[in-house]
Amino acid sequence: MLKPITNAEIQLLIAQAIQAREQAYAPYSGFKVGSAVLSENAKIYPGHNIENVSYSLSICAERNALYHAHICGANTFYALAVVYHETEFAKPCGSCRQVMHEFNPELLLVLCNLRKEYRLLSLSKLLPEPFEKSQFQTHKIEAK
Ligand SMILES: [Zn+2]
Repeated sequence: MLKPITNAEIQLLIAQAIQAREQAYAPYSGFKVGSAVLSENAKIYPGHNIENVSYSLSICAERNALYHAHICGANTFYALAVVYHETEFAKPCGSCRQVMHEFNPELLLVLCNLRKEYRLLSLSKLLPEPFEKSQFQTHKIEAK
């Protein structure tokens, strides 16, 4: 299922995530995050976080990148980059991990910083026990 990702694709993802971060709307936290996702058609879709004065309405960069890609017709994703800091590596929040799992449980994460240093990690390592359809199955206890 996973397509090998090239170094050139990783560099493009990082560059797009850094560029997306510049447009982030984070007037309340000052925590600007950029993301970019690589789809099956080799296109890259950026996203950034958007905050709201009603904090719970804010949305993360990673989900914005995925939703952006999906709105544009992409359904299969191979890798997602996320960046927020000069030297530290961002990790997606739990909500974003669950949304990523919906599209690719083995999604490759490119955790990067503004120096373009990065670490590669599979989503399955960050979300080993996701919420899944199988949890909707009805189980019946047999009477003895
Ligand atoms: Zn998130």
